[in-house]
Amino acid sequence: MAAQLLDGRLMAAQLEEQLKRRVAHLAQKGLVPGLTVILVGEDPASHTYVSNKEKACARLGIRSATLRMPEHTTQAELEAEIQRANADPSVHGILVQLPLPRHLDADRALSLILPQKDVDGFHDINAGRLCRGLDCTVACTPKGALYMLKQAGIPIAGREAVVVGRSNIVGKPMALLLLQENATVTICHSRTADLAAHTRRADILVAAVGKPRFLTADMVKEGAVVVDVGINRVDGKLCGDVDFEPVAEKASWITPVPGGVGKMTIAMLMDNTVAAAEKVLAK
Ligand code: NDP
Repeated sequence: MAAQLLDGRLMAAQLEEQLKRRVAHLAQKGLVPGLTVILVGEDPASHTYVSNKEKACARLGIRSATLRMPEHTTQAELEAEIQRANADPSVHGILVQLPLPRHLDADRALSLILPQKDVDGFHDINAGRLCRGLDCTVACTPKGALYMLKQAGIPIAGREAVVVGRSNIVGKPMALLLLQENATVTICHSRTADLAAHTRRADILVAAVGKPRFLTADMVKEGAVVVDVGINRVDGKLCGDVDFEPVAEKASWITPVPGGVGKMTIAMLMDNTVAAAEKVLAK
């Protein structure tokens, strides 16, 4: 493997050490950061993600509460729980685990979370402020991916960045963050004509597609920095959206799956929760 590894496990562990100090500082002032996670239904992946979030909170001294609601929960019941958490001063962060069961309106639910408690950064106010380059809570996955680039000292300004995927939770905010860092950004999607012509130009290539090993070595420029956001399960094993081994032969830096962006996502959720608590204290 020619590429250097962007090690999410290591970077997340280092960030957690800083977060522990920030939590201890808050504790000295009598404030324990609190995160409420609302989990509706039985999606096994969601249950795993939520359990990982609970474990991270426990490691850092963040008080976490998970509301496990049944599959048949109504919109009104979900919204009542969001409002309850909004009104609770001991809750600094609220997260509604996605995807919600199909009968529930996720956009409406997310829009009810107070923007200052929206630690996922999915609220329209936070997404809109990111778009305008204003101070806001940034979605955890793209924030984590950018953090990895910066921690590794990878230059971004003036470079060609190509983001494959335009979802509201990954692709779009990732592109906006890279733009803020003065990259020249191209966003590709399922209707992009000649995807490889775009990806081959990329100095920084971000894959957020949701298709196992979708980005192959022939689509990657020699020396590119490759950030693989994808989390796919093939034959019971996790893999990303990048065909890791052959791409790693060409890339200069690459994130592994597992142990890459996914680790940073949880660390950034913790960061956003601690920051939300710090803002309460600063008021
Ligand atoms: P979405 O399904 O919401 O978005 C996928 C994007 O990929 C869409 O914009 C879609 O285009 C695009 N796409 C699909 N097929 C192609 C194609 N053939 N060529 C080019 N673009 C294509 O997924 P998410 O953004 O939510 O997630 C992406 C991946 O990241 C998933 O594997 C997910 O599991 C993972 N993920 C990982 C996280 C982490 O913590 N590491 C957190 C969140 C997600 P179009 O818009 O035209 O349909």
